[in-house]
Amino acid sequence: MAEPITLADDGTLVVPDEPIVPYIEGDGIGVDIWPAARAVLDAAAARSGHRVGWTEVLAGEKAYRETGEWLPTDTVDAFRQYRVGIKGPLTTPVGGGIRSLNVALRQILDLYVCLRPVRWFRGVPSPVRHPEKVDMVVFRENTEDVYAGFELDEGSPAARKLIEYLADELGWQIRADSGIGIKPISITGSKRLQRAALDYALARGRRSVTLVHKGNIMKFTEGSFKAWGYELVAEEYAGRAVGWDSCGGDPGERVLVKDVIADAFLQQILTRPDEYDVIATTNLNGDYISDALAAQVGGIGIAPGANINNATGHGVFEATHGTAPRYAGLDKVNPGSLILSGVLLFEHLGWDRAAADIVAALEATIADRIVTYDFARLMDRATEVRTSEFAAAIIDRL
Ligand code: NAP
Repeated sequence: MAEPITLADDGTLVVPDEPIVPYIEGDGIGVDIWPAARAVLDAAAARSGHRVGWTEVLAGEKAYRETGEWLPTDTVDAFRQYRVGIKGPLTTPVGGGIRSLNVALRQILDLYVCLRPVRWFRGVPSPVRHPEKVDMVVFRENTEDVYAGFELDEGSPAARKLIEYLADELGWQIRADSGIGIKPISITGSKRLQRAALDYALARGRRSVTLVHKGNIMKFTEGSFKAWGYELVAEEYAGRAVGWDSCGGDPGERVLVKDVIADAFLQQILTRPDEYDVIATTNLNGDYISDALAAQVGGIGIAPGANINNATGHGVFEATHGTAPRYAGLDKVNPGSLILSGVLLFEHLGWDRAAADIVAALEATIADRIVTYDFARLMDRATEVRTSEFAAAIIDRL
């Protein structure tokens, strides 16, 4: 019988034999990719002796049609109670209401880690010569930075008031016709994100964690992010991780923690990507970096994502692309992003074998040149298949 996942006193997840997992099918191509992803996840789980107690919850257009709400309270409650959930893409409601359903879920559940693993799958068309050198896991801070939503419109009374205040109190001369955004970066927000990256690196045998920042210019936000990262390593990870300066770049068995300026990083992921492994970065940097890396491995269409709170065990696993409405219901698009999000979900549950099986089967399918239209148009001698056929081909290779 399906049961909820709970949290043990030591903060680890207690996963029953058949955990209840809420899912949001998603708008647009959600009707195509969700059934395909679910079939692959169920098949892989069964092979490892697991079973998922899927339960549908509503959000987006389907929710609006049936309940008049874009994000019903029941849905949020289900994600809160059952701790994990998976979702297809959602239409962003235009005009009023919730700014973005994804942002709303992240804020309500305080999902402070945006996790984006980026690696190349053999056979996927890539714009670079050595995509196989990219194997990184990006931890992007999800709750702060210029993304926190503290913005004032140019000309608004509040913007004028703040500009006057800054001039009077701090002597900052800001042009009167400016819009204003505030960039908060806290010790709390930085260290909990960096802790998640370090714990991941240690648990998964990764070699290094790189703090990516613009601290050369923004000293007390980005620069502090870097400083707090090194501080955290010294405070909590002695013997398990070590900062570059404390070991001269020779960490021995420990995880090496280093840092790089964001613009140099964007060059180096092209020139020597194999020097990077786990990445911990602020919100805006992380946005650019995850998409740049995904493009480098040709994986924009299959890149998975997860939003996680490591302290409560909450996690929402999602396709990173949108609803692609013009393909909805055509059984045409690539379900890879949602399938790989399911892999992250399984890893979160500790179902590592089922997760690894899916990755291997997906890789074998693409290596056999069985792909959906998006890859087929970029590959020689590809066999173009439908969404459902692609899922079936993966299941055959499990
Ligand atoms: P989009 O839905 O991601 O689609 C843009 C293009 O990306 C598609 O036309 C298609 O390219 C390609 N694509 C996307 N998903 C694909 C898949 N699974 N397989 C193959 N190709 C795929 O972006 P959009 O058109 O800007 O946004 C549409 C809606 O989605 C908006 O309402 C937006 O707010 C929402 N959105 C939601 C999320 C989310 O829920 N996480 C994220 C982004 C956007 P080609 O036509 O060139 O083949």
